[in-house]
Amino acid sequence: MLGAIEAGGTKFVCAVGDEYGQFHDRIQIPTTVPEETMGQVLEFFQQYSLEAIGIGSFGPIDVNRESSTYGYITSTPKVAWRNYPFVQALKEAFNVPVGFTTDVNAAALGEMTLGAAKGLDSCLYITVGTGIGAGAVVQGKLLEGLSHPEMGHILVRRHEDDRYKGKCPYHHDCLEGLAAGPAIEERWGDKGVNLVTRPEVWDLEGYYIAQALMQYILILSPKRIILGGGVAKQEQVFSAVSKYLPELLNDYLVLPGLAEYIVGPGLGDNAGITGALILAKQAL
Ligand code: ADP
Ligand code: ZN
Repeated sequence: MLGAIEAGGTKFVCAVGDEYGQFHDRIQIPTTVPEETMGQVLEFFQQYSLEAIGIGSFGPIDVNRESSTYGYITSTPKVAWRNYPFVQALKEAFNVPVGFTTDVNAAALGEMTLGAAKGLDSCLYITVGTGIGAGAVVQGKLLEGLSHPEMGHILVRRHEDDRYKGKCPYHHDCLEGLAAGPAIEERWGDKGVNLVTRPEVWDLEGYYIAQALMQYILILSPKRIILGGGVAKQEQVFSAVSKYLPELLNDYLVLPGLAEYIVGPGLGDNAGITGALILAKQAL
């Protein structure tokens, strides 16, 4: 029996199951403060005899095994979780191996093992939702280094008609600042779900996401790209990306057909929690 946690800014999903993505039990817990949320997490897992636990967490987190704060959530804007020793709390309670990575890295691992990139040894998973983040598996291994990638905060070329200032508190008009859900809402004055009949919204969205994908492709050369998150529920985003990406690449690279290269999550909303199960297996 493996334990899995997908730790998000608004909710934690906890599950027990196997490395084939079969869930035996799962719950959702609101993300409040560590004492309360983690109290419920431990209570849930205490019902089971776990062999290992995998965590895909919101960040920033410390994934560098040489660091003295390995396993911590670090400089998150969620003050109560700042410097929280996430891995240590679970090791203390259960004394089993614990795998630890970002939510988007876990989703990439899940999709590569059991989802839309099954059978490949690399993929990139990008979520466009409340924020933008991406994780990747490269040559079978999760992409980590000094820290974990923060691919949502790359710089993009601004559209000449876009006067919106940007919403990232750190960089204003980075990718996340221009293209995440809250930026859409502030720029156009309504939530994405209510802008379905405004093609200019999704065209601009595709304009920015295509630039990001171009850079990820040029740097990481993923064998498949999975585009997830609330904003990507709009099919129009995929068509706009498919329009702009070839223009940007301008035949410099030969890509597979975009309809099979850039796809939605095969595991739907379960990509992250499934990846966390697989991470638990790897930790074991
Ligand atoms: P989170 O990123 O918080 O995990 P989501 O991936 O659902 O959650 O992203 C939430 C953001 O996506 C919000 O800004 C919301 O307005 C936007 N969003 C959610 N669903 C849709 C949709 N069907 N179409 C367009 N935008 C959406
Ligand atoms: Zn930023």
